[in-house]
Amino acid sequence: MSAKLIDGRSIAEKIRNKLRSQLLLRSKHRKPAPKLAVILVGEDPASEIYVRNKHQACEDVGITTLDYFLPKTLSQKKLLTLVQKLNKDKSVNGILVQLPLPKHIEADVVLEQLDPRKDVDGFHSFNLGRLAQERPQLRPCTPYGVMLMLEEIGQRFKGKEAVVVGASNIVGRPMALELLAAGCTVTICHRFTKDLAKQVGRADILVSAVGKPAFIKGKWIKKGATVVDVGIIRLPDGRLTGDLEFTEARQKAKWITPVPGGVGPMTVAVLLKNTLLAQELQGKR
Ligand code: NAD
Repeated sequence: MSAKLIDGRSIAEKIRNKLRSQLLLRSKHRKPAPKLAVILVGEDPASEIYVRNKHQACEDVGITTLDYFLPKTLSQKKLLTLVQKLNKDKSVNGILVQLPLPKHIEADVVLEQLDPRKDVDGFHSFNLGRLAQERPQLRPCTPYGVMLMLEEIGQRFKGKEAVVVGASNIVGRPMALELLAAGCTVTICHRFTKDLAKQVGRADILVSAVGKPAFIKGKWIKKGATVVDVGIIRLPDGRLTGDLEFTEARQKAKWITPVPGGVGPMTVAVLLKNTLLAQELQGKR
Protein backbone atom coordinates (compact mmCIF):
# COMPACT_ATOMS: atom_id res chain seq x y z
CA MET A 1 0.00 0.00 0.00
CA SER A 2 1.20 3.49 -0.77
CA ALA A 3 -0.74 6.35 0.79
CA LYS A 4 -2.32 9.03 -1.34
CA LEU A 5 -0.76 12.45 -0.91
CA ILE A 6 -2.87 15.25 0.53
CA ASP A 7 -1.94 18.13 -1.74
CA GLY A 8 -1.89 21.18 0.52
CA ARG A 9 -0.79 23.44 -2.31
CA SER A 10 -3.84 22.75 -4.46
CA ILE A 11 -6.31 22.80 -1.55
CA ALA A 12 -4.84 26.13 -0.41
CA GLU A 13 -5.07 27.48 -3.95
CA LYS A 14 -8.76 26.60 -4.04
CA ILE A 15 -9.29 28.56 -0.80
CA ARG A 16 -7.33 31.52 -2.15
CA ASN A 17 -9.30 31.53 -5.43
CA LYS A 18 -12.56 31.60 -3.51
CA LEU A 19 -11.30 34.46 -1.33
CA ARG A 20 -10.14 36.41 -4.38
CA SER A 21 -13.64 36.15 -5.91
CA GLN A 22 -15.29 37.15 -2.62
CA LEU A 23 -13.03 40.19 -2.29
CA LEU A 24 -13.58 41.19 -5.91
CA LEU A 25 -17.32 41.08 -5.36
CA ARG A 26 -16.97 43.16 -2.20
CA SER A 27 -14.89 45.77 -4.02
CA LYS A 28 -17.61 45.98 -6.70
CA HIS A 29 -19.96 46.85 -3.85
CA ARG A 30 -17.47 49.54 -2.76
CA LYS A 31 -16.53 47.73 0.42
CA PRO A 32 -12.93 48.46 1.47
CA ALA A 33 -10.32 45.72 1.11
CA PRO A 34 -9.39 44.08 4.43
CA LYS A 35 -6.11 45.40 5.84
CA LEU A 36 -3.55 43.26 7.67
CA ALA A 37 -0.77 44.79 9.78
CA VAL A 38 2.29 42.55 10.00
CA ILE A 39 4.90 43.21 12.69
CA LEU A 40 8.37 41.72 12.46
CA VAL A 41 10.88 42.51 15.20
CA GLY A 42 14.52 41.69 14.41
CA GLU A 43 16.14 40.10 11.38
CA ASP A 44 15.50 36.37 11.72
CA PRO A 45 15.98 35.11 8.10
CA ALA A 46 13.24 32.43 8.36
CA SER A 47 10.77 34.98 9.75
CA GLU A 48 11.65 37.43 6.98
CA ILE A 49 10.78 34.75 4.40
CA TYR A 50 7.48 33.94 6.17
CA VAL A 51 6.53 37.63 6.29
CA ARG A 52 7.39 38.10 2.62
CA ASN A 53 5.28 35.06 1.68
CA LYS A 54 2.34 36.31 3.73
CA HIS A 55 2.63 39.76 2.16
CA GLN A 56 2.61 38.25 -1.35
CA ALA A 57 -0.31 35.94 -0.53
CA CYS A 58 -2.32 38.92 0.77
CA GLU A 59 -1.65 41.02 -2.33
CA ASP A 60 -2.57 38.09 -4.54
CA VAL A 61 -6.13 37.87 -3.17
CA GLY A 62 -6.69 41.61 -2.65
CA ILE A 63 -5.85 42.11 1.03
CA THR A 64 -3.89 45.29 1.81
CA THR A 65 -0.87 44.94 4.07
CA LEU A 66 0.89 47.33 6.36
CA ASP A 67 4.35 46.01 7.21
CA TYR A 68 6.35 47.03 10.27
CA PHE A 69 9.98 45.92 10.14
CA LEU A 70 11.36 46.90 13.54
CA PRO A 71 14.87 46.66 15.01
CA LYS A 72 15.67 43.74 17.34
CA THR A 73 16.49 46.25 20.09
CA LEU A 74 12.88 47.52 20.16
CA SER A 75 11.58 47.60 23.75
CA GLN A 76 8.54 45.61 24.83
CA LYS A 77 6.89 48.87 25.87
CA LYS A 78 7.26 50.34 22.37
CA LEU A 79 5.90 47.17 20.79
CA LEU A 80 2.88 47.24 23.12
CA THR A 81 2.28 50.89 22.22
CA LEU A 82 2.26 49.98 18.52
CA VAL A 83 -0.17 47.09 19.15
CA GLN A 84 -2.49 49.43 21.05
CA LYS A 85 -2.33 51.97 18.25
CA LEU A 86 -3.23 49.29 15.67
CA ASN A 87 -6.01 47.98 17.92
CA LYS A 88 -7.60 51.43 17.83
CA ASP A 89 -7.04 52.05 14.11
CA LYS A 90 -10.39 51.29 12.45
CA SER A 91 -8.76 50.89 9.03
CA VAL A 92 -6.72 47.90 10.30
CA ASN A 93 -8.66 44.62 10.42
CA GLY A 94 -5.96 42.11 11.34
CA ILE A 95 -2.73 42.25 13.34
CA LEU A 96 -0.06 39.61 13.02
CA VAL A 97 2.98 39.59 15.29
CA GLN A 98 5.55 37.30 13.69
CA LEU A 99 7.03 34.83 16.18
CA PRO A 100 9.58 34.24 17.58
CA LEU A 101 10.12 37.63 19.19
CA PRO A 102 13.54 38.61 20.56
CA LYS A 103 14.24 37.12 24.01
CA HIS A 104 13.72 40.39 25.94
CA ILE A 105 10.09 40.57 24.74
CA GLU A 106 7.46 38.32 26.35
CA ALA A 107 5.40 36.96 23.46
CA ASP A 108 2.50 35.99 25.74
CA VAL A 109 2.16 39.56 27.01
CA VAL A 110 2.20 40.99 23.49
CA LEU A 111 -0.29 38.49 22.05
CA GLU A 112 -2.65 39.07 24.97
CA GLN A 113 -2.68 42.82 24.16
CA LEU A 114 -4.15 42.22 20.70
CA ASP A 115 -7.78 43.03 20.17
CA PRO A 116 -9.15 39.44 19.93
CA ARG A 117 -11.21 40.47 16.90
CA LYS A 118 -8.00 41.46 15.09
CA ASP A 119 -6.07 38.36 16.23
CA VAL A 120 -5.87 36.70 12.80
CA ASP A 121 -3.39 34.07 14.06
CA GLY A 122 -5.99 32.95 16.62
CA PHE A 123 -3.42 32.85 19.46
CA HIS A 124 -5.22 35.12 21.95
CA SER A 125 -6.68 33.35 24.99
CA PHE A 126 -10.13 34.63 23.97
CA ASN A 127 -9.92 32.82 20.64
CA LEU A 128 -8.47 29.64 22.16
CA GLY A 129 -11.24 29.74 24.78
CA ARG A 130 -13.92 30.14 22.14
CA LEU A 131 -12.51 27.13 20.29
CA ALA A 132 -12.48 25.13 23.54
CA GLN A 133 -16.17 25.97 23.98
CA GLU A 134 -16.97 24.92 20.40
CA ARG A 135 -17.92 28.53 19.56
CA PRO A 136 -14.87 29.41 17.47
CA GLN A 137 -14.27 32.88 16.07
CA LEU A 138 -10.74 33.40 14.75
CA ARG A 139 -9.29 29.87 14.76
CA PRO A 140 -5.54 29.21 15.01
CA CYS A 141 -4.37 29.02 11.40
CA THR A 142 -2.42 25.76 11.27
CA PRO A 143 -4.92 23.51 13.09
CA TYR A 144 -7.84 25.01 11.17
CA GLY A 145 -5.87 24.51 7.95
CA VAL A 146 -5.40 20.84 8.86
CA MET A 147 -9.17 20.46 9.40
CA LEU A 148 -9.92 22.04 6.01
CA MET A 149 -7.47 19.63 4.36
CA LEU A 150 -9.05 16.65 6.04
CA GLU A 151 -12.55 17.80 5.08
CA GLU A 152 -11.36 18.14 1.48
CA ILE A 153 -10.36 14.43 1.34
CA GLY A 154 -13.72 13.43 2.85
CA GLN A 155 -12.24 12.38 6.20
CA ARG A 156 -14.84 11.21 8.71
CA PHE A 157 -14.29 12.36 12.28
CA LYS A 158 -17.10 11.12 14.54
CA GLY A 159 -15.90 8.31 16.79
CA LYS A 160 -12.42 8.16 15.20
CA GLU A 161 -9.33 7.82 17.36
CA ALA A 162 -7.26 10.96 16.82
CA VAL A 163 -3.76 11.28 18.25
CA VAL A 164 -1.94 14.61 18.30
CA VAL A 165 1.77 14.54 19.04
CA GLY A 166 2.86 17.93 20.39
CA ALA A 167 0.97 20.15 22.82
CA SER A 168 2.06 23.72 22.04
CA ASN A 169 -0.43 26.58 22.38
CA ILE A 170 -0.19 27.40 18.69
CA VAL A 171 -0.42 23.94 17.13
CA GLY A 172 -0.86 20.82 19.29
CA ARG A 173 -3.45 22.05 21.80
CA PRO A 174 -5.78 23.85 19.37
CA MET A 175 -5.38 20.90 16.97
CA ALA A 176 -6.72 18.58 19.68
CA LEU A 177 -9.62 20.99 20.33
CA GLU A 178 -10.50 21.05 16.62
CA LEU A 179 -10.53 17.26 16.42
CA LEU A 180 -12.55 17.02 19.64
CA ALA A 181 -15.12 19.48 18.30
CA ALA A 182 -15.37 17.37 15.14
CA GLY A 183 -16.30 14.30 17.20
CA CYS A 184 -13.02 12.39 17.52
CA THR A 185 -11.78 10.68 20.66
CA VAL A 186 -8.58 12.62 21.16
CA THR A 187 -5.25 11.77 22.77
CA ILE A 188 -2.58 14.45 23.16
CA CYS A 189 1.03 13.25 23.41
CA HIS A 190 3.94 15.39 24.57
CA ARG A 191 7.50 15.14 25.82
CA PHE A 192 6.45 13.23 28.98
CA THR A 193 4.24 10.70 27.18
CA LYS A 194 5.22 7.11 27.88
CA ASP A 195 5.21 4.57 25.05
CA LEU A 196 4.61 6.99 22.18
CA ALA A 197 4.69 4.09 19.70
CA LYS A 198 1.64 2.52 21.36
CA GLN A 199 -0.30 5.81 21.36
CA VAL A 200 0.55 6.53 17.72
CA GLY A 201 -0.44 2.97 16.78
CA ARG A 202 -4.04 3.60 17.92
CA ALA A 203 -4.57 6.60 15.67
CA ASP A 204 -7.08 6.60 12.82
CA ILE A 205 -6.04 10.23 12.42
CA LEU A 206 -2.49 11.15 13.43
CA VAL A 207 -1.23 14.72 13.56
CA SER A 208 2.41 15.27 14.44
CA ALA A 209 3.64 18.73 15.49
CA VAL A 210 6.97 18.18 17.23
CA GLY A 211 9.70 19.57 14.99
CA LYS A 212 12.15 16.62 14.98
CA PRO A 213 13.10 14.93 11.70
CA ALA A 214 12.12 11.24 11.25
CA PHE A 215 10.78 11.25 14.81
CA ILE A 216 7.54 9.34 14.06
CA LYS A 217 8.50 5.89 12.84
CA GLY A 218 6.63 4.40 9.91
CA LYS A 219 6.22 1.06 11.68
CA TRP A 220 4.25 2.72 14.54
CA ILE A 221 1.47 3.87 12.21
CA LYS A 222 -1.84 2.01 12.02
CA LYS A 223 -2.62 0.51 8.63
CA GLY A 224 -5.01 2.79 6.74
CA ALA A 225 -4.52 5.83 9.00
CA THR A 226 -4.68 9.43 7.85
CA VAL A 227 -1.37 11.05 8.73
CA VAL A 228 -0.70 14.79 8.90
CA ASP A 229 2.83 16.09 9.36
CA VAL A 230 2.88 19.65 10.72
CA GLY A 231 6.60 19.61 11.52
CA ILE A 232 8.90 21.75 9.40
CA ILE A 233 12.61 21.35 9.91
CA ARG A 234 15.40 22.73 7.73
CA LEU A 235 18.15 20.12 7.33
CA PRO A 236 21.84 21.12 7.24
CA ASP A 237 21.81 20.66 3.43
CA GLY A 238 18.99 23.24 3.16
CA ARG A 239 16.15 20.80 2.40
CA LEU A 240 12.89 20.97 4.35
CA THR A 241 11.56 17.90 6.12
CA GLY A 242 8.85 16.99 8.61
CA ASP A 243 8.45 14.79 11.72
CA LEU A 244 7.69 11.58 9.84
CA GLU A 245 9.82 8.77 8.53
CA PHE A 246 8.00 9.57 5.33
CA THR A 247 8.74 6.65 2.99
CA GLU A 248 7.98 4.05 5.67
CA ALA A 249 4.91 5.94 6.90
CA ARG A 250 3.55 6.11 3.37
CA GLN A 251 3.55 2.29 3.20
CA LYS A 252 1.17 2.09 6.18
CA ALA A 253 -1.09 5.14 5.82
CA LYS A 254 -4.05 5.65 3.50
CA TRP A 255 -3.59 9.42 3.28
CA ILE A 256 -0.48 11.41 4.11
CA THR A 257 0.72 15.02 3.85
CA PRO A 258 4.12 15.78 2.28
CA VAL A 259 6.62 18.33 3.63
CA PRO A 260 6.92 20.76 1.92
CA GLY A 261 3.59 21.17 0.10
CA GLY A 262 1.33 19.88 2.87
CA VAL A 263 0.22 21.86 5.89
CA GLY A 264 2.45 24.93 5.25
CA PRO A 265 0.41 26.44 2.36
CA MET A 266 -2.80 25.79 4.32
CA THR A 267 -1.59 27.93 7.23
CA VAL A 268 -1.14 30.93 4.94
CA ALA A 269 -4.51 30.35 3.22
CA VAL A 270 -6.28 30.32 6.60
CA LEU A 271 -4.51 33.53 7.62
CA LEU A 272 -6.11 35.21 4.59
CA LYS A 273 -9.50 33.67 5.38
CA ASN A 274 -9.19 34.88 9.00
CA THR A 275 -8.35 38.43 7.85
CA LEU A 276 -11.61 38.62 5.92
CA LEU A 277 -13.50 37.11 8.86
CA ALA A 278 -11.87 39.67 11.19
CA GLN A 279 -13.14 42.49 8.97
CA GLU A 280 -16.63 40.99 9.06
CA LEU A 281 -16.50 40.61 12.87
CA GLN A 282 -15.48 44.25 13.25
CA GLY A 283 -18.33 45.33 11.00
CA LYS A 284 -20.74 43.73 13.49
CA ARG A 285 -19.46 45.70 16.49
P1 NAD B 1 6.98 23.57 20.08
O1 NAD B 1 8.45 23.34 20.20
O2 NAD B 1 6.35 24.73 20.75
O3 NAD B 1 6.22 22.26 20.55
C1 NAD B 1 6.71 20.97 20.30
C2 NAD B 1 5.88 19.97 21.05
O4 NAD B 1 6.47 18.70 20.84
C3 NAD B 1 5.83 20.21 22.56
O5 NAD B 1 4.50 20.21 23.00
C4 NAD B 1 6.58 19.01 23.15
O6 NAD B 1 6.00 18.52 24.37
C5 NAD B 1 6.45 17.97 22.04
N1 NAD B 1 7.55 17.03 22.11
C6 NAD B 1 8.88 17.30 22.18
N2 NAD B 1 9.58 16.15 22.30
C7 NAD B 1 8.67 15.14 22.32
C8 NAD B 1 8.77 13.75 22.48
N3 NAD B 1 9.95 13.14 22.65
N4 NAD B 1 7.62 13.01 22.45
C9 NAD B 1 6.41 13.61 22.30
N5 NAD B 1 6.26 14.94 22.17
C10 NAD B 1 7.38 15.69 22.18
O7 NAD B 1 6.71 23.60 18.50
P2 NAD B 1 5.44 24.15 17.67
O8 NAD B 1 5.50 25.61 17.58
O9 NAD B 1 4.20 23.47 18.13
O10 NAD B 1 5.84 23.57 16.23
C11 NAD B 1 6.03 22.19 16.01
C12 NAD B 1 6.53 21.96 14.61
O11 NAD B 1 5.54 22.41 13.68
C13 NAD B 1 7.81 22.73 14.25
O12 NAD B 1 8.56 21.94 13.36
C14 NAD B 1 7.29 23.96 13.53
O13 NAD B 1 8.23 24.50 12.64
C15 NAD B 1 6.11 23.37 12.80
N6 NAD B 1 5.08 24.32 12.43
C16 NAD B 1 4.60 24.25 11.19
C17 NAD B 1 3.60 25.08 10.77
C18 NAD B 1 3.06 24.94 9.38
O14 NAD B 1 2.44 25.85 8.88
N7 NAD B 1 3.24 23.80 8.75
C19 NAD B 1 3.07 26.03 11.65
C20 NAD B 1 3.56 26.08 12.96
C21 NAD B 1 4.57 25.21 13.34
